Amino acid sequence: MDESHVVVLGAGLGGTIAAYEIREALKGKARVTVISKGDDYWFVPSNPWVVVGWREPEAIRVHLPSVMEKRGIAFTGAGARQVDPDANRIVLNDNSYIDYDYLVIATGPDLAFDEIAGFGPAHHTVSICETAHAAAARDKFEELCANPRPIVVGAAQGASCYGPAYEMAMILDTELKRREIRDKVPMTFVTPEPYIGHLGLDGVGDTKGLLESEMRNRHIKWITNAKVASVEPGMMHVEEVNEDGSTKKLHDLDFGWAMLMPPFRGVAALRGIEGLVNPRGFVLVDKHQRNPKYRNVFGLGVCIAIPPTGPTPVPVGVPKTGFMIESMVTAIAQNLKEIFAGAEPTHEATWNAICLADFGDGGVAFVAKPQIPPRNTNWSSEGKWVHLAKIGFEKYFLRKIRKGESEPFYEKLALHVLGIKKLRFD
Ligand code: FAD
Repeated sequence: MDESHVVVLGAGLGGTIAAYEIREALKGKARVTVISKGDDYWFVPSNPWVVVGWREPEAIRVHLPSVMEKRGIAFTGAGARQVDPDANRIVLNDNSYIDYDYLVIATGPDLAFDEIAGFGPAHHTVSICETAHAAAARDKFEELCANPRPIVVGAAQGASCYGPAYEMAMILDTELKRREIRDKVPMTFVTPEPYIGHLGLDGVGDTKGLLESEMRNRHIKWITNAKVASVEPGMMHVEEVNEDGSTKKLHDLDFGWAMLMPPFRGVAALRGIEGLVNPRGFVLVDKHQRNPKYRNVFGLGVCIAIPPTGPTPVPVGVPKTGFMIESMVTAIAQNLKEIFAGAEPTHEATWNAICLADFGDGGVAFVAKPQIPPRNTNWSSEGKWVHLAKIGFEKYFLRKIRKGESEPFYEKLALHVLGIKKLRFD
């Protein structure tokens, strides 16, 4: 039988589970191929633990070819060089190509370190966005512990992922206290957010109060409404701005170790394709996760375009967290099922934001339903349980990826008990 071909581009948090769910939803109707960059899946949310040596990179790696094969999914780690949606074709880095009937784009972010002089792991700051970056950041952290100096943590202007920045700051604080050298390491948190705990979501519950209080208790100073002008070896130049965008103060921050979340943009294989992506290369999708121009293309995860919650003096992007991404995956799998049955897609992801921010000795959890305020659920809480829940999330997610499970029953049950739905109409 001449089956249709569904290609999933990108095998990160969203792409891997999308492949499993789509395979399940379209059994016997379509073959599924995953194209990723490299053969491994890395559990990115554990990267801050890699930096302080609480996790070995190997422990959060899943080798994908054998897992995909077991699930009957074709896989290549060659990476896409160029997507050609007019020809329904993807040209790979090895010059081969793959044609598709339906394409699901899940390529995550391209890390735009080059937008700030001296920024990023190729220059003077470290990164936690990839596990290999986190492993290199760990070497630099060990050097810092041998020769204590100040630390700068946070996010650069235009970043759209803040939870890991707060996690990193608190985890470093916890580890430095364990090593009894915290008193020798002053810490500054630098962020474009207009206030601590904004998180790109205009706060969730009392994240402002909770996170400010954590920072004060841990003696972490902060600079909000901040723009990084440039970085030199051991020195970061930061402009703090007023409400109207005018300069409030210039800061020269001395550091021995610095990590700021970078601004994100779409990956090179997609950038500049009229109608498929916006000017920053993020995939345009409608409420069914479908591209308005190329109707056989869907997008999910960090690579899709979402407008900010509201204007801020310095650009602050909206984060796309794990559960929000899972809700996009489920919507796409169900929409493809409808399309294959000859119907129009009806499923919409809820885009509810649920996040666990671990601090090593505690943490903050929040639920934003919906993502943009005013909300029906606007809840945040803190405690030691968050650290344990985050370990549970890691174990559960890695198991899910290794087993190729699309959604075990207990997950559905737990989410149901919390009153959280992945789809708007289920
Ligand atoms: P990714 O997981 O980044 O996957 C993208 C995939 O596409 C990668 O495998 C990449 O190699 C591949 N790819 C890229 N370009 C190409 C190409 N040209 N061809 C083929 N493949 C390509 N969210 C939470 O909910 N909880 C957390 O605790 C949490 N912690 C985070 C910690 C960090 C350090 C970061 C950076 C993010 C965190 N997030 C967290 C946010 C979010 O859940 C993750 O970023 C998540 O990995 C995003 O999933 P994704 O599938 O969109 O992209």
